[in-house]
Amino acid sequence: MTTSEEIIDRERRFLLPTYNRYPLVLERGKGVFLFDLEGNRYLDFVAGLGVNALGHAHPRVVKTIREQSARAIHFSNLYYHEFQGRLAEKLCQLSGLNRAFFSNSGTEAIEGSIKLARLAGHRAGGEVKSRLVALEGSYHGRTFGAMSLTGQDKYRKGFEPLLDDVKFVPRNDLDALRAAVDNQTCAIVLEPIFGEGGIHECSTAFLRECRILADRHQAALIFDEIQCGLGRTGTIFAFQSFGVTPDIVAIAKPIAAGLPLGGFLAKEEFASAISAGQHGTTFGGGPLACRVALEYFSIIEDEGLLEKVSRVGAYLQERLKSLAGRYAAVEEVRGRGLIQGLQLTTPARPIVEQGLAEGVLFNSTQDTVLRFLPPFLFQEKHVDKGIRVLKKLLGKRPR
Ligand SMILES: *Cc1c(COP(=O)(O)O)cnc(C)c1O
Repeated sequence: MTTSEEIIDRERRFLLPTYNRYPLVLERGKGVFLFDLEGNRYLDFVAGLGVNALGHAHPRVVKTIREQSARAIHFSNLYYHEFQGRLAEKLCQLSGLNRAFFSNSGTEAIEGSIKLARLAGHRAGGEVKSRLVALEGSYHGRTFGAMSLTGQDKYRKGFEPLLDDVKFVPRNDLDALRAAVDNQTCAIVLEPIFGEGGIHECSTAFLRECRILADRHQAALIFDEIQCGLGRTGTIFAFQSFGVTPDIVAIAKPIAAGLPLGGFLAKEEFASAISAGQHGTTFGGGPLACRVALEYFSIIEDEGLLEKVSRVGAYLQERLKSLAGRYAAVEEVRGRGLIQGLQLTTPARPIVEQGLAEGVLFNSTQDTVLRFLPPFLFQEKHVDKGIRVLKKLLGKRPR
């Protein structure tokens, strides 16, 4: 038997020191619970940062992986298979957009989206139509393209030079937006709800203005729904909750229930700017990942999970708001559905660490925000357990 100490020690010696992990060695999961090496159980408010929307070891996901992996895990994109086209068709039906491209991750979905927007921009306005507008405080991933759109110094510092024609505007600042978008803009890129940035929503007025300006200047409106999309707001796409439709939408995290898969969907007028050979990937869109993603959407429909997200999300919000009135350290509740944040006046990491001893996994972001991204299988009783633990931990903190 390998002990937790041995596992942690081996990582310390052989991995790049990129992660500031919690002292927890996980072994398996079941539904909304995770289990460590010693068999201790944890209620999961993190869901693999939004990946495990169907919880852990969902029987239909396990069955699909078992069946499909015995037939084929990977085919090259040199050839056709049944599931990539079927998944694209499903996503187009659900979104109202026209074409899909599949990648392996969220970052690559963003990368492909801005490559497409550049092609469409150059076609519409020549080489100069290449500028990007993004939001301060945003997070879009770690490649040079995605990092260049990420409006937080801590992710960019040390890696310069990045793409040099990105303008950042503050979220919900209509005047700054109008000043930033012009004829040379090829895309406006934003998360309708900031995830990593601390659960901040874009206002409907701001999103509408983005839509108007993108239309006026023939720029692509790109929504990064990698964290907030695919059911987390109670609609399949977050943009359906806000009533503003983008030209391109990037998705990833939960789509293949934990297998690496991302992608972006585009309206035909942008999709038609790309041709064979201009973009591609070895792994993206393989038969196993695509078939599991089709199962993901079937499970959401069959189990009525969007209704559950809305109902339990509203309950979570009400319970979190009750804390805001009672504890001095709690400032504000933000978000909707099962993407919510609790703004604290004190660091959030100690609460996350103390939560481990109470058998609950919380997550913190932006130092003072507790972020809640539980599986869509969450019930009211799971919310209650989390709130009980939060009360205990917040009560301990100096006022
Ligand atoms: C996680 C995330 C990404 C990056 O996705 P990866 O799969 O980690 O590459 C991009 N945008 C948002 C909003 C995310 O939450």
